[in-house]
Amino acid sequence: MGSNRGGRANSKMTQLVLETYGRQCWLRLKGCTGLATTKDHVIPYSLGGDDSLENFRPACRSCNSKRQNMVVSGYGASVVIVMGPPAAGKSTYVREHASAADIVIDLDEIARALMPVRPEQTHVYPAHVRHVAIKARQAAISAARRLKERVTVWIIQAIPRPDDLADWRRLGYQVVTIDPGRAVVEDRARRLRPEIMRQQVARYYATYGEHTAPAVPAPSPLASVATGHETEPDW
Ligand SMILES: [Zn+2]
Repeated sequence: MGSNRGGRANSKMTQLVLETYGRQCWLRLKGCTGLATTKDHVIPYSLGGDDSLENFRPACRSCNSKRQNMVVSGYGASVVIVMGPPAAGKSTYVREHASAADIVIDLDEIARALMPVRPEQTHVYPAHVRHVAIKARQAAISAARRLKERVTVWIIQAIPRPDDLADWRRLGYQVVTIDPGRAVVEDRARRLRPEIMRQQVARYYATYGEHTAPAVPAPSPLASVATGHETEPDW
């Protein structure tokens, strides 16, 4: 039977992939079992990747299903995560570095776009607007991570969860930290931004410390973009 033959060829290819590349999962996302038993398309089939040995890598079942058809940065779209405390200048950084064809996903901008009159002050919007904006952001991230066009997707996420950060790095996403220093940020937060921002500044440094990260760290190999968690304040 055709399907039977297909199944045998398929499992033969899986064997070949495991023999060629070894049994270590190449993705190693959060929840990885380490032991590869499946083959993962480097370039997803839906993005034009083929079923050749060169386009397969060994992956554990958990990572394979978690990744789905998200791009590994550079095969299709590239993803840059821009993190850092509130009032650090993340939006400005993206404006200065993005090309006209790129995608920028910024919760604050999405929330403002959803309101009939854009508030004068950024980062000030009601909870129901924020709720809708988070959903819109998730949908945008999900679609942007599956683009085959070789554009850059800039995702502004102030305080990512460290687990998510590790996953993103696995998928080759570049992580850029914008941090002019705690004193500068605290001063700006006091002058420009609502009170809640000061709490966010404190939370950022509690999570990531006060080291001055290089402005543009070298891209590190391979991840799953944060699916924006409702409870996670995200500037
Ligand atoms: Zn794995």
